[in-house]
Amino acid sequence: MKIVMLGAPGAGKGTQAKMIAEKYGIPHISTGDIFRANIKNGTELGMEAKKYMDQGQLVPDELTVRILLDRVAKEDCRAGYVLDGFPRTIPQAQVLDEALTKLGDQIDFAIDVKVPDENIIRRMSGRRSCGGCGATYHIEHIPPKKEGICDTCGGELTLRDDDKPETVKSRLDVYHKQTQPLIDFYSAKNILRTVDGTMDMKDVFAAITAILG
Ligand code: ADP
Ligand code: AMP
Repeated sequence: MKIVMLGAPGAGKGTQAKMIAEKYGIPHISTGDIFRANIKNGTELGMEAKKYMDQGQLVPDELTVRILLDRVAKEDCRAGYVLDGFPRTIPQAQVLDEALTKLGDQIDFAIDVKVPDENIIRRMSGRRSCGGCGATYHIEHIPPKKEGICDTCGGELTLRDDDKPETVKSRLDVYHKQTQPLIDFYSAKNILRTVDGTMDMKDVFAAITAILG
């Protein structure tokens, strides 16, 4: 099963994608996580991506597409995957589509996790991410057992650099201009499904599993 998660930054794509990956036994692929891992390891790719991420802008398609296509060509992706944060532009979606078509394959579902902009700023300012294992929490809604410490690996929880309110505003603008058109793109293919992302995360997941079966 091949799934694309759509939605604004902070809508809960990553939270749901992790649960989908676990339930259906497919890899969770987040281009944002791949970039952050590269930044942490000081790679050339990381340095290049950081310039855009810090401004709340998208990393250029050329770079992002190459990374994604390399990742989905790996053996563990044979039975499918859940993409989180990719595609983010129409050209990215077209390249993915073409690559899959060549293999006689296609995306099965594009799931739009819908959350109004008003809720997004609160979601992102409360997000805390583990530097060790990448787990995500929310200080109010999904708190760790011990403040500032990851339940899973004991790593330190921090606010992402690009979750500061001034950057969130640019990210939301970028989302509306460049990413939201993907809703029509996948709707035209009859694979778009929409879920209400303002519900409790367990209820959002129940809505998603009702779609995926
Ligand atoms: P995205 O991957 O779309 O950027 P995340 O999955 O990281 O978003 O979620 C953004 C923030 O909102 C995180 O702090 C997460 O813990 C929290 N969150 C996710 N889903 C919900 C939900 N259904 N209700 C409340 N908070 C949520
Ligand atoms: P995310 O973790 O999905 O919120 O992504 C964090 C940041 O990484 C984004 O704001 C972009 O700068 C960059 N990024 C992640 N995925 C993509 C993508 N598909 N295309 C372009 N930039 C991306």
